[in-house]
Amino acid sequence: MIPLRRLVPGVEPDADETLVFWVASDSGQQPYRVDLTCYHGNGKCDCMDFQMRREVELSKGQMPALRYECKHIRRAARYLRFEVTQRIMVLRRKGKA
Ligand SMILES: [Zn+2]
Repeated sequence: MIPLRRLVPGVEPDADETLVFWVASDSGQQPYRVDLTCYHGNGKCDCMDFQMRREVELSKGQMPALRYECKHIRRAARYLRFEVTQRIMVLRRKGKA
């Protein structure tokens, strides 16, 4: 299986918090913290794009939608998708799923 770090470079799961990720900034600044549990699973990010454009709508009660995901949330969600898929594939191979 291809390691998750190679499949989704620049995304690291938080060591302690489930569904929290650190996503590299394209401009080389500090990584952004992405929490996929926020806003009914839409996710929340520290970046300006999310805070200024997307979180404004979500905090008014909008349903999760692709347009409310910044690129960092999308990368974290992609990481999670590969992680879950790989785990299910391992269980399947063992006959447990
Ligand atoms: Zn972001």
